[in-house]
Amino acid sequence: MYKSVFRPSMLKKSLFVNKIRGLTSVTQNISLKGIFSLILVVLMLNISTQVNAQHNELSLSEFTRIIPKAETHIHFSALIYPDLALKLAKKNNVELSYSTPSELITDKTWTVSPFNAPSDELWGGYFQRLAEFQSVIKTSDDVKEVVVEWARRSGIVSNVKYAEIHIPYPNASTALDIDLDSYFEGFKLAREQIKEDYGIDLRYVGETYILSHDVINAAKKEVETYGKYKEETAIVGISILSIFPDITDVKPVLDLARSLGFKAPMHLGNRAFSPDKKELVKPMWDAIDILHIDRIDHGYFASFDLELVDHIADKKIPMTNCPHVIVGKFVFPKGDIAPTFTWDNFPFKLFYEHDVVASLHTDTPAMGSSYTLAEVYEEVVDQYDYDKEDVIVWAENSFRSALISDSEMKKYLKELKDWVYKNN
Ligand SMILES: [Zn+2]
Repeated sequence: MYKSVFRPSMLKKSLFVNKIRGLTSVTQNISLKGIFSLILVVLMLNISTQVNAQHNELSLSEFTRIIPKAETHIHFSALIYPDLALKLAKKNNVELSYSTPSELITDKTWTVSPFNAPSDELWGGYFQRLAEFQSVIKTSDDVKEVVVEWARRSGIVSNVKYAEIHIPYPNASTALDIDLDSYFEGFKLAREQIKEDYGIDLRYVGETYILSHDVINAAKKEVETYGKYKEETAIVGISILSIFPDITDVKPVLDLARSLGFKAPMHLGNRAFSPDKKELVKPMWDAIDILHIDRIDHGYFASFDLELVDHIADKKIPMTNCPHVIVGKFVFPKGDIAPTFTWDNFPFKLFYEHDVVASLHTDTPAMGSSYTLAEVYEEVVDQYDYDKEDVIVWAENSFRSALISDSEMKKYLKELKDWVYKNN
């Protein structure tokens, strides 16, 4: 299994050895230098005490919750907390089908996720609910408030240093009813405020849904619009969400995105379109070898094909995994053509133990019973008895999943290394 280059045990050992060496060399000179050396010993002990004071050994739980992280897999469309939706609805005179958050929590269309809808009715109901939430957003300040609220409720407690939010294209496959300038202005304002208030560096990934060949030209237009707002809104990637069995059909859209300077992550291996497992993994092979995508979001079906898992590891393609939307819930609306994932066969463990650059994320932190990234990390540690060394690798992998330059990534990994040094 791949291990971090800076394990806590190594750090502790090297610090201890240095302290002993320093004290030994000083005490050897006491007889020659007399009082001067004694002063040096006192000084060394003082420094040693200060070093100890900087080291703050955290419990596994606390370490897991607050280790610096990158959150690169969350969707704006699932980021609107029920109470905030009510507040915005009131402000914008939108009528919602519920009047208190607790009323909503018991509603089946809310407690299901895109992955656990056991029937067509609930599956459709879930998306109607998403659309209802999005209908409350009318101004740039509304957009900003939704994003800032995520940072306040999940980002800070999870010590997120860097985040990427997937944003849907308004007025296309979503119910967002807001003009483009206000929409992108809202994301820009949110980014500024989150940086200032919480120190989180936030970027965006523009989503474009290609669910039939008819919309390929429309998707290209969406990518061009993202390009227009790219710099001021800090959009770093375009995520093409498609269920085409032949994934290479989306190549013209992806080529356009790249020509405009975007990176290309893709949601893959989480939507079933065939009962044949070989067919389900084929788009992943093609996305890697033909489309050369920059990141796989989800990718759970890779667990059907160990050769593919090793291929992803060899290519060092990051995989972002979101257990809270999968575990115990993986039932497709069109029948049981894929397994229900439980903690026993949840693919993250397999990916991680096959040296894939696998990281943990939330996907839909405001949905159902809202949850934070810190809770996701903690739950995975608890389920599999992982330790701090593993948590460090996941945190490293989270930064490696970011669509940023090599120099920025080095900066984040150095900051993580310093944090681990101080907290072990
Ligand atoms: Zn997702």
